[in-house]
Amino acid sequence: MKEQPFTLIQLRSALRQGETSSVAATQAMLDRIVEQDNDIKSYLTITDELALEQAETADQRRANGEDGPLLGVPIAVKDIICVAGAPTTAGSKILEGFIPPYDAFVVQKLKEAGAVILGKTNTDEFAMGSSTENSAYFTTRNPWDLERVPGGSSGGSAAAVAAELAYGALGTDTGGSVRQPASFCGVVGLRPTYGRISRWGVVAFASSLDQVGAFGRTVADATALFQAIAGYDRRDSTSLNVPVPDYAAALTGDIKGLKVGVPAEYFIEGIEAEVETAVRAAIAKLEELGAEIHPISLPHTRYALPVYYLIAPAEASANLGRYDGVRYGPRIAGADMIDTVKQTRALFGPEAKRRIMLGTYALSAGYYEAYYGRALKVRTLIKQDFLNAFESVDVIACPTSPTTAFKIGDRADDPLSMYLADIFTLSVNLSASCGLSVPCGFDSSGLPIGLQLIGNTLQEATILNAAFAYEQATEWGGKRPLGANSAKIDKKLSIL
Ligand code: GLN
Repeated sequence: MKEQPFTLIQLRSALRQGETSSVAATQAMLDRIVEQDNDIKSYLTITDELALEQAETADQRRANGEDGPLLGVPIAVKDIICVAGAPTTAGSKILEGFIPPYDAFVVQKLKEAGAVILGKTNTDEFAMGSSTENSAYFTTRNPWDLERVPGGSSGGSAAAVAAELAYGALGTDTGGSVRQPASFCGVVGLRPTYGRISRWGVVAFASSLDQVGAFGRTVADATALFQAIAGYDRRDSTSLNVPVPDYAAALTGDIKGLKVGVPAEYFIEGIEAEVETAVRAAIAKLEELGAEIHPISLPHTRYALPVYYLIAPAEASANLGRYDGVRYGPRIAGADMIDTVKQTRALFGPEAKRRIMLGTYALSAGYYEAYYGRALKVRTLIKQDFLNAFESVDVIACPTSPTTAFKIGDRADDPLSMYLADIFTLSVNLSASCGLSVPCGFDSSGLPIGLQLIGNTLQEATILNAAFAYEQATEWGGKRPLGANSAKIDKKLSIL
């Protein structure tokens, strides 16, 4: 079969020109999945029959003169987002066998745009994690080095996009779960503003922080996917009833006069030297492209981690209360009702249990004010830091993660070191900002490094354009990992 286009945008125009068909593009992806995904393990479920049916329909629609923003484009969906008729596990045994009877809002939007859904990608259990090692099923591998994690929790989506096993993918980002894996896998990942996209049909982790995000191999690809899913929906009362701008039109590549803030608190001890060098070089590049660089301060940054690990587990402990063996997924029948609930809830993995305990403690009578209440107050200070910064700058530039992808197993037994993987991403979720990660180089082991660009509330167009300008001016975008064409063969080559 002839080689299919590399980027989503290229595929879309090839489909429009009649140079390929959705069936051919979808089949090519499914073939690659069969060939590669035994090594990478990015998918939990492959919805191949559904995908080919959708591809045929897309081709028919096109033959009838119709078009759509993603008509015929194969996309992957994180397995925490409901797709009607396909299993949705959220990476947990407690949802094994759960088949939602409805599509999430974002999946409805994908379908309206004409997308083809290839399958459901691996995730840390209930999106709690930074490596996919907390998935109850298996760990996804980083396509750049199969011995390393792809990041998480949306590690399956990031790896699938990096390894060309999908033209784009949806993830969710509660504390960094789109940006951090994007950084580890050398792809673009956007975490929009809280409320920009309805979360209806997305399994809840921490409701005041969760948001759906988009992965692409290039900025334009991630933009096209984001454009298709953005929007208000009355079924999610936190979604914002504001118009969706034309994000693609904002990608002019012109950033002359753009004010870029560089926060002192994000270049701290513990950050890998090669990451710091690459990110500083990226900031210098933005300046060369006409941006003005301003040192700024986000003074409450050091509280982001403790605040997040009070608020997120508190909300998680409430959200996970619904898995009782009655309403969803499996039921382990015990002696009586309480015993049944107990035994069923034993299906939660260790990290979910840890969070339920932390959260229940933080919310318990007598401790509520001292922990949860105080965390909410400090969250307001963190938010205020960003609002103050955005009075003088348009964009904040910093690393996405302090390190490149770590080895599988290295942090699995040390929750704190795992939590530190998101030290630079958490504040975006705690404030009302949006953020993205765009590739900005490689370390000496050939692992990708990500530049994080943060924007004020609903300023996705600004950060996407800054990332686009940067990507166009550098060579880091749209690189193929060694393993993308044949993980096994190239793995051997890299050892030789
Ligand atoms: N790694 C963070 C956590 O474990 C963030 C996860 C996420 O964004 N879903 O909570």
